[in-house]
Amino acid sequence: MPIATVNPANGETLRTFDALDGQETERRLAAAHRAFRSYRTTEFSERARLLNRAADLLDADQQEIARTMTTEMGKPVKAARAEAAKCAKAMRWYAANAARLLADEHPDDTDVKDSGASRARVHYRPLGVVLAVMPWNFPLWQVMRFAAPALMAGNTGLLKHASNVPQTALFIEDLFTRAGFPAGCFQTLLIGSGAVEAVLRDPRVAAATLTGSEPAGRAVASIAGDEVKKTVLELGGSDPYVVLPSADVGKAAETAVTARVQNNGQSCIAAKRFIVHAEVYDAFAERFAQGMRALTVGDPLEESTDVGPLSSEQGRTDLEELVEDALAKGATALCGGGRPEGLDRGWFYEPTVLTGITPDMRIHREETFGPVATLYRVADLDEAVDLANDTPFGLSSNVWTRDQGEMDRCVRDLEAGGVFFNGMTASHPALPFGGVKRSGYGRELAGHGIREFCNATTVWYG
Ligand code: NAP
Repeated sequence: MPIATVNPANGETLRTFDALDGQETERRLAAAHRAFRSYRTTEFSERARLLNRAADLLDADQQEIARTMTTEMGKPVKAARAEAAKCAKAMRWYAANAARLLADEHPDDTDVKDSGASRARVHYRPLGVVLAVMPWNFPLWQVMRFAAPALMAGNTGLLKHASNVPQTALFIEDLFTRAGFPAGCFQTLLIGSGAVEAVLRDPRVAAATLTGSEPAGRAVASIAGDEVKKTVLELGGSDPYVVLPSADVGKAAETAVTARVQNNGQSCIAAKRFIVHAEVYDAFAERFAQGMRALTVGDPLEESTDVGPLSSEQGRTDLEELVEDALAKGATALCGGGRPEGLDRGWFYEPTVLTGITPDMRIHREETFGPVATLYRVADLDEAVDLANDTPFGLSSNVWTRDQGEMDRCVRDLEAGGVFFNGMTASHPALPFGGVKRSGYGRELAGHGIREFCNATTVWYG
């Protein structure tokens, strides 16, 4: 894949970049390692000062970086601004909270006495240089939710961003440099995915985090496993959105539209499978399809656009194949099901709702990365939970009910890293984020996220 900015709204190649050669990659690796040796000893207060400065600079650059993201990957520009604002918020949150999250832990003296200790503590130290392999779909947020905690913990970062968002990748490096982080603390490596292995195997790299598809996660985790290096994987999702009879059906249907088409339908935590109790199915289906039909599809730089193009031609082809396979095997499109008229130059796809889904259809088990929803009718909560879990993924889940007993059952039984009631899944700096099953392992955000790339050191005093 060339490293280039190609506008998905019209297919035009705007800028291309040469991949770093081996010498430049080596120079950056050495700088990251050198920076770590001194940066790891800095105080939390100094790291917080730098990160807050970076957040202020990001706020000031919000319009500009939003346009860059939209031009590179097609998200509506209003969503791109919101993404930049969310990043600044997370940076400030970690700046304010890292010292507390990584404070020494003091086990009760009576608990450790029989180890022979007069006292003991757990002290969090940074791991070192962390390689971040990141996707294009939230090109700023995915990086920042790694970078903010990693830098606050005293690690240094090397970013291998997706090849279609090079300008956003370079912006991020520049942001940290302008904020005053010491040289080498956070650098972008403009390299293709084939060059990741050599970087990851380098002894100066301590760990890796990858957000992206399952094949990419498997590739990086295999190499890291071979090198016995820590990884965090944030992979795909096919989140269920369960609607039960006690739900506010109107609100559930309205939120369902946003939950499905956010980021042009290309979000790991987008609700993708809509599982609706028979009692409220018809009412939900009608309002949901109505809401999907009413969306404005078009130029993502227009403020009025709800759904822009898919990020790549291949992405649209993959989605079309899933829909065509389902339709050929008997599914019905309540709305959409093809390319919108009059938008021939970009990689647009209509907001689509499919019913009549059966297990032999690919779409039943594969992730739909675009504005396509599958709608299922179920007879009761048991069937809803079974269907919700009938997926290789386990990122998050959404359930609409007012019944506490049903909520408790879902918390107990849904195989996912999150259960969101009467709303849609969204990440937040203070809440851990991550999945189970093929959605990956490890957690980002909150205290869980910042401790992933720390050495929890037992300190024992005789
Ligand atoms: P992708 O193709 O896996 O790419 C993600 C990153 O991995 C890119 O930087 C890519 O580089 C790199 N990469 C790909 N194959 C690799 C390999 N064999 N070795 C090393 N690096 C490799 O994924 P995507 O299409 O950008 O993103 C969509 C996927 O990400 C979806 O499945 C989505 O659900 C998932 N996602 C998950 C989360 C989460 O938090 N769980 C968040 C967002 C997205 P190149 O661009 O150079 O190929």
